Amino acid sequence: MLKFEPEEILIERDCESTAMVRRLKAALPQVPLKVVDHGREQVTFAAPPAADFGAAKKRLYIAKHKGDFLKKCPGSDGQVCCNYFVINFASNCPMDCSYCYLQEYLAHNPALKVFANVDDLLAEADELLNKHRRYFFRIGTGEITDSLILDPYIGFTREVVPFFAEQPNALLELKTKSNCVEDLLTLDPKERVVVSWSMNPQTVIDEEEHGTASLLERLEAARLCQDAGYRLGFHFDPMIEYTDWERDYEELVEQLFATVDWRRVSWLSLGVLRNTPGLKRAMRERLPRTRLLAAEQVPNPDGKLRYFQPLRIEMYRKMLGWIRRSAPPTVKVYLCMESKHVWQEVFGYAPSCEKELGAQLDPRKSWARNWIRMYNSVS
Ligand code: SF4
Repeated sequence: MLKFEPEEILIERDCESTAMVRRLKAALPQVPLKVVDHGREQVTFAAPPAADFGAAKKRLYIAKHKGDFLKKCPGSDGQVCCNYFVINFASNCPMDCSYCYLQEYLAHNPALKVFANVDDLLAEADELLNKHRRYFFRIGTGEITDSLILDPYIGFTREVVPFFAEQPNALLELKTKSNCVEDLLTLDPKERVVVSWSMNPQTVIDEEEHGTASLLERLEAARLCQDAGYRLGFHFDPMIEYTDWERDYEELVEQLFATVDWRRVSWLSLGVLRNTPGLKRAMRERLPRTRLLAAEQVPNPDGKLRYFQPLRIEMYRKMLGWIRRSAPPTVKVYLCMESKHVWQEVFGYAPSCEKELGAQLDPRKSWARNWIRMYNSVS
């Protein structure tokens, strides 16, 4: 199993007696640990230069979250949104992908922060889900961190999976590039938890996804989760264009469906490399040798840089063709942060609003008419 070891652990005094801290102490007795008063320690290492972003990833800071844990995924202006909610139980990530937007978003963050008051998180989720029983929530934990890489130390899933397993109107997605699924295998998700992986060919993992699990490790972890009763998700995102991308992505799709049962796949998403000028600056400073900096990209209305639209459409269409060759149209595929025009060009259809797409990704519905239309348009 992939291992990450922090260089130091800082614990806010009012988190000392939490279950998370007890687990952390037992799992990492060799790591220097210090108890700090809220806020005070942060001042001493506040606002490091962006070049120290890598150092911040090795400083684990256990804190109490004061605001709301749950929020709607911000999406991207003018792009089709999939009506997703996020739980930020942690902020920052010990892995280090060249394209990671946290390099800009958390550039001056002093540490890898994890919130220990999981009880408050569950109380907030309980209130929201109870209040809107007629609405189906897709909730993920991997927006500004990886959902599972810290799990062997903090045991987050041991607290949240049993809760979501009992919810009639929610599905929890745990998104990862790790293979840290050991704890998950001991829990019963009762069809309410999707474990999902970001997928790329091994050559992209080697060059751009530093410190993550290999492709084979991700596939093996997915198979284990499938056998333990979890639903699965796969995100081909960000897809990278390079000389042999077609051969490699086609093989990747074949390898995926040779390993997992398509009947257990809740969704697949496709998205291409996207940047902002600020992220490119951070990449240039931290990882000047990455070939992603040489990618030809154009500004989009949401301020992000993406490949030229015709290339994006070609990449999505080819991926969709390879996916449909290996799996029937009951396996739902969607585009992440793309315009209605691109949807139309790829699927021959674009969701009219975020609620429509969110409803189509509701796993209780086998598949809607539009998915048949989309299938027919590419078959
Ligand atoms: S795994 Fe995700 S959050 Fe972590 S560095 Fe890579 S892209 Fe960023």
